[in-house]
Amino acid sequence: DSTINKIAAGEVVEGPYSIVKELIENSIDAEATSITVEIKEGGKKYIRVTDNGSGIEEKEVEKAFLRHATSKISKIKDLYKVLSLGFRGEALASITSVAQVEMITKTRDQQYGISIEVNGGKVISKKPIGCPNGTTIIVKNLFFNTPARLKFMKSTQGETAKITEIITRLALSKPNVAFKYINNNNIMFTTLGDGNLSSTIYSILQDDWVKNMIEVNKKANNLTMEGFIGQPTLYRGNRSYEIIYVNGRYVKSKLVSQAIELAYKENLPINKYPVCVLNIRIDPSLIDVNVHPMKTEVKIKDEADIFKCISTSLKEALIEEIT
Ligand code: ADP
Ligand code: MG
Repeated sequence: DSTINKIAAGEVVEGPYSIVKELIENSIDAEATSITVEIKEGGKKYIRVTDNGSGIEEKEVEKAFLRHATSKISKIKDLYKVLSLGFRGEALASITSVAQVEMITKTRDQQYGISIEVNGGKVISKKPIGCPNGTTIIVKNLFFNTPARLKFMKSTQGETAKITEIITRLALSKPNVAFKYINNNNIMFTTLGDGNLSSTIYSILQDDWVKNMIEVNKKANNLTMEGFIGQPTLYRGNRSYEIIYVNGRYVKSKLVSQAIELAYKENLPINKYPVCVLNIRIDPSLIDVNVHPMKTEVKIKDEADIFKCISTSLKEALIEEIT
């Protein structure tokens, strides 16, 4: 079963950033209102995620790590079936199979917490500990036991950039959660968790120009758009700050990006991209979200219609701002 975990890890744990994503999503699932992420050396050596969420009960602690390392997955074809279900219960098991993991967790109802260490999938210690409510997970030395994969990680700078991107988009999608992001002992950003999108954008992106973003609040036929778009004078050399959520889920959509860019067409230099944080709500029956948890693609039916809606509404918002 340790082999199966490693194979599954190949799917779930693409690199440090995917660990950060899974851990933050677990904290959000646990209804945390405060999440701290600390990384060292691009997360390759050290990732810590601390939350004030529900915590895990003493008797559930080991299960959380080992859930699918059972006879459930006995054949290769079953394995693929489980993977295609979207890794429910796969993340922690996968992470612990390819790294050294420590977890400290306590529920509100317990007097004390549990500290557990799991190394390459094996529990090496478990003991009671005094700690606050919530969960801290520390992931050290990713891929220490899979040398081939160790080599495929990017430079510290490259991995850090991917982690920053993932934390940014998760923090922007949850203005109600106070995030703190620390990289090599430097605080990169903290958000207030006050539920306010513009203050969250400002906390993360910081630059002065964020203050001048244009608020969008549009309803058109079968979609609504809320969020902030940048002035045409604020642009980037790539699409990394076109941050788009469809029905609350972060997506990369060429269609949506092109629709946004069309609204800016006359106002942006060639090969430059606008900045935005947009929440788009579309009737779920009009979209087809890829179920793969690591994928961010979204398929939109009736594309031409949606494209026009987005582009026209944003153009209106831009014109209203200028006039
Ligand atoms: P999944 O999230 O798909 O259930 P994971 O492997 O990510 O699977 O997590 C396994 C289980 O561990 C979760 O279902 C949850 O019960 C528990 N868990 C993990 N992280 C946390 C956390 N930060 N707070 C509370 N419970 C957690
Ligand atoms: Mg999970």
